[in-house]
Amino acid sequence: MSIVDEIGFYGTEASSLMDPPGIDGRFGEFGGRFIPESLIPACTELEERFTYFWTDPEFRAELYDMLTTYAGRPTALTECSQLSKELDILLMLKREDLTHTGSHKINNVLGQALLAKRMGKTRLIAETGAGQHGVATATAAAYFGMQCTVYMGEVDVKRQELNVFRMKLLGAQVVPVSSGSKTLKDAINEAFRDWVASCDTTHYCVGSVVGPHPYPWMVREFQSVIGNEAREQCRRHLEGYDPDYVVACVGGGSNAAGTFAGFAATDSNLVGVEAEGGAAIGKGGIGVVHGMRSRLMQDENGQVLEAHSISAGLDYPGIGPEHSYLASIGRVEYFSVNDAEVIEAFGRLSRVEGILPALEPAHALAWVFREVGKKIPKGSAVLVTLSGRGDKDVQQIMDILRDPK
Ligand SMILES: *Cc1c(COP(=O)(O)O)cnc(C)c1O
Repeated sequence: MSIVDEIGFYGTEASSLMDPPGIDGRFGEFGGRFIPESLIPACTELEERFTYFWTDPEFRAELYDMLTTYAGRPTALTECSQLSKELDILLMLKREDLTHTGSHKINNVLGQALLAKRMGKTRLIAETGAGQHGVATATAAAYFGMQCTVYMGEVDVKRQELNVFRMKLLGAQVVPVSSGSKTLKDAINEAFRDWVASCDTTHYCVGSVVGPHPYPWMVREFQSVIGNEAREQCRRHLEGYDPDYVVACVGGGSNAAGTFAGFAATDSNLVGVEAEGGAAIGKGGIGVVHGMRSRLMQDENGQVLEAHSISAGLDYPGIGPEHSYLASIGRVEYFSVNDAEVIEAFGRLSRVEGILPALEPAHALAWVFREVGKKIPKGSAVLVTLSGRGDKDVQQIMDILRDPK
């Protein structure tokens, strides 16, 4: 797919931090819409409808009801008493692992599916790498009685057999993509191609704060429930204070953006933790991927590189444009951790607190464990978003511990 159009770097920037972007979807120099001309009407319609429904009390009430009665919100805030003692900090977890389907992804897909329904669409499409967003989209489609097609690179279909089967159980059609490198970026191209031909009936459900405007903004808004709940819960727990540190892992950046949205206006230090092999902020340059301008891992010719991480959910070469912006103005700091630190953190939370974290949020924990007494002063109150549960990763951990490389 060629990028034939670049629209709208003409609007104003967001007026204050984590407000809506300008009408062009711009976060500083990042964001925008880098898509074929044929997709512009679909994006414009989506932007217009989301803008309308997001301020509609009835839409909000219906979403709130689903999040409560189906997805299991509000999720708990857990103080890790044992680890707090060991580390000499106050460690709190925002428990997105306790949601239906086991991660924060449900917040986004339910929001988008409800919006699609209100827009009169009858079909959801998605692309997925590790399969987790595919499973979430298939779940939302089943709930709403919508058709669902999930594009997945042929290589990923083989790697993620169990998630492919899950999607099929949920009634979705999984389409293996055999072009290019047969992985996520090829699946993204196929999803865009489908959407061009089908946008009258079909909503493209993007899985993170990435893609052309309005996706980065819209997905952040759907995920802001994490940060809004957490801020309330922290204030209650800390008797009116906000945490000193708010830490979340970053793949595309949706659980982090949703978390930070609740704390952007506070004095809390905000930290995003990337995988060493997918560090779009840490190691990436500025470029265009997935319909947006942002930071991404690319080679010297501007070719997008494949990310590598122990956790499939952080295997995304780019990062949401708002994160690139928040990094550029210094409001959020981004660091990376390596696979060994992640496995160690996974084991430690499991052993000491009885919570198996997903490998993705184990990155955030690993950073905290590493930096206590260094970047994080002892005595600090630290909130970590536990974006998902580790059940999906147990087999992988078992293989690694049996056969350490
Ligand atoms: C998909 C996933 C992520 C990464 O996605 P973000 O958009 O960066 O939040 C993180 N944690 C879990 C548990 C996931 O499933």
